[in-house]
Amino acid sequence: MDYYSNQISRLIEEFSRLPGIGNKSAQRLAFHVINMPVEQVEGLANAIVDARKNVRYCKECCTLTDKDICPICSNPDRDHKTIMVVETPRDLAAYEKTGKYNGVYHVLHGAISPMLGIGPGGDIRLKELMERLQGDVDEVIIATNSSLEGETTAMYISKLIKPVGIKVSRIASGVPVGGDLEYIDEVTLLRALEGRTEL
Ligand code: ZN
Repeated sequence: MDYYSNQISRLIEEFSRLPGIGNKSAQRLAFHVINMPVEQVEGLANAIVDARKNVRYCKECCTLTDKDICPICSNPDRDHKTIMVVETPRDLAAYEKTGKYNGVYHVLHGAISPMLGIGPGGDIRLKELMERLQGDVDEVIIATNSSLEGETTAMYISKLIKPVGIKVSRIASGVPVGGDLEYIDEVTLLRALEGRTEL
């Protein structure tokens, strides 16, 4: 890469460290940035730094937020006794888009996957969920994906929670197998939620 100036080479190298960005894409992005107006580049750079510095896990539900407690958890109008367990903040966003769910969430940040060596202890935010259940909770709705990992996680969680005596339900399987929740339309999501069954 000696034929580029050092600074361009460095930019290409930084881009190529990002997931899904090969060397060709990294070069394309680097040259795109070089041709952008300086103010736009500054806006992009600041957005990256600000997000990285300020975004953290909500102390209640573990979603990503820039406050200690996210806007959903700090909203007194939400039903704090109903907790929907999802795999990612993007799944949370998908349910929020429907505008019909008034409970709160718990974001696991993944699912149990023996294949990938992701276990229930420490890898996903399960301990935090169990801690929340010591409070006043009526129902836990498990809305993990219908992939093998999602189903494994749902079974595991329901086995953990049942002895606690809290109602546990699973969203209906109208959600296509292996389908990521974020790509499913709102009507299907609502149907899955309304058709949930007690485990
Ligand atoms: Zn929260």
